[in-house]
Amino acid sequence: MIDQLKEFIAIQTIAHDKQSNEAGILFIENLLTPLGFEITLEGNSKYHQPVIIAKHTNPKSDKKIVLYGHYDVEKIRKIDEWETPPFEVVEKENRLFCRGIADNKGILLARILAIEDIVKSGKELPNILWIIQGEEEVAGQTPFEIIPKHFENFQSVLYLEETGIYRKEKPVIFYLPKSDERPSFLNGMNKAIYNGEAAFENRHLNKFTTCPFLTNIPSNGYYLGFGPNDFSANIHRPNESMNKDNLFNHRLTFQKFLEWVSQTNI
Ligand SMILES: [Zn+2]
Repeated sequence: MIDQLKEFIAIQTIAHDKQSNEAGILFIENLLTPLGFEITLEGNSKYHQPVIIAKHTNPKSDKKIVLYGHYDVEKIRKIDEWETPPFEVVEKENRLFCRGIADNKGILLARILAIEDIVKSGKELPNILWIIQGEEEVAGQTPFEIIPKHFENFQSVLYLEETGIYRKEKPVIFYLPKSDERPSFLNGMNKAIYNGEAAFENRHLNKFTTCPFLTNIPSNGYYLGFGPNDFSANIHRPNESMNKDNLFNHRLTFQKFLEWVSQTNI
């Protein structure tokens, strides 16, 4: 995983950089296509960051999940404050430092590799609609135009956020809609992915701007969020980082999540 991570991070997928964005998209395409995903690029982004629509269809399964992520990264504002080169993965004291590791390329790659693990083991995948957008860090309009029709056509009840957090080393599962009573399926999910050890929070991941994923989830849909980030991540700031164990463990956690989706009855 670490070599692929180095390669992905080195591609500087920031707004307006056509060549890098094309390379970033190709990197994802080259990983997902052999796993049976059908890829289309949509939207005429003025930032050269179209939306990747990746679909996996399994006619033998009626289970569905919408996944969300983004391949763009926040630009480097204060290069003097970076202690390591931002587009190189540098390991220090069990943390990985670089732009995009926590938001959100590290997680995106871990999830792709988890899917690869499932495919290689011969296990079934659910039907997957993966929205991988490119304008998260500039709050562009393209995803707002593209996402609604795909949600409408796919008709899923489960929608998974780009990442999530550990609070004091304990994993958290975010969920919505707001409710007094927690939906019962969440205990089964917690057991399946975190051995029942996660805490629940009835809210969404903090966002810097209005999110086209969140705002388009239908009223009968469940928003879910979990992932390897923590409060030392420095997202959007110099010295962005991720706990290495959390990231590597997320690969297995996400694999368990997809297996849970394939079995659950919601
Ligand atoms: Zn993000």
